[in-house]
Amino acid sequence: INADEEDNEEDMVTRPPIVTVMGHVDHGKTSLLDNIRNANVIAGEAGGITQHIGAYNVKLKSGRRITFLDTPGHEAFTAMRARGAKVTDIAIIIVAADDNVMPQTVEAINHAAAAGVPMVFAINKIDKPSANPEKIKEELAKMNYLVEDWGGKYQSQEISAKKGLGVEELLEKVLLEADMLDLKANPKKRAVGSIIESSLDKGRGYVSTVLVESGTLRMGDIVLAGTHHGKIKAMFNERNVRIEEAKPSEPVLILGLNGAPQAGDTFNVLETEQEAREIATRREQLQRELGLRTQKMLTL
Ligand code: GDP
Repeated sequence: INADEEDNEEDMVTRPPIVTVMGHVDHGKTSLLDNIRNANVIAGEAGGITQHIGAYNVKLKSGRRITFLDTPGHEAFTAMRARGAKVTDIAIIIVAADDNVMPQTVEAINHAAAAGVPMVFAINKIDKPSANPEKIKEELAKMNYLVEDWGGKYQSQEISAKKGLGVEELLEKVLLEADMLDLKANPKKRAVGSIIESSLDKGRGYVSTVLVESGTLRMGDIVLAGTHHGKIKAMFNERNVRIEEAKPSEPVLILGLNGAPQAGDTFNVLETEQEAREIATRREQLQRELGLRTQKMLTL
């Protein structure tokens, strides 16, 4: 929809990597995301992260930023990918060192590999007496995923998500991976991005967390997302601070859409509300027709 806007090389600016944590249940995804959200590895910023909006952005002591999708589990990743959304630049695959490479670990690795997303391995729970990180590395090697200290190309870091050990080092390795990807976006155009999650809020109406992929999203912009549209009435970051604009890789909660688009839906900014409404209506009709046809096929 925004194909008319070309990128000039001089407008391209480095953007923070967008990172997803994936792994087997109970291997520590939530603990790691919580630790990063609250940890002191992160440079002090006005107001802590006060609300779960599906993604958050942190600034490290080095001054660099990383955006995390904090919908733990690869269900979100899979759902978004199924809708064609490429919302992850790097995957952290977390494996508990007191356990084994488990079915969901393998699944997570396969998802990331299929999406062409680079992986960094976090070997967790090293504070436990029963932890055996070398065994995990060996199991990974057997799957042909050799980590660096086994002579392979995959970065890995031993961590304790619970105690915060090794987390800073893990994030530096993620940034190293980001450097190799040379992630850039043009902030000087209308925003394009993805829906991370949506809900209906009692007081505020429909709220959606969106992740800007390129361009800059601003207050008052007319947004089209899936079969929904609307004019942005208010924007908040994960610190619940009202903001006027969001740049590439910045997650932001927006108010003003007339419905709840699905995770993984693309959003675009259009010139007029009429244009947005027309496309949204057309998409809705198409969906309905497709639905009817599928129903018919099923009853044949
Ligand atoms: P998730 O299912 O992958 O999100 O895993 P959680 O983060 O919920 O962790 C599962 C359990 O392992 C919880 O009881 C955590 O307290 C525990 N846990 C997570 N990380 C660590 C760690 O580094 N060390 C220890 N000892 N326990 C941990």
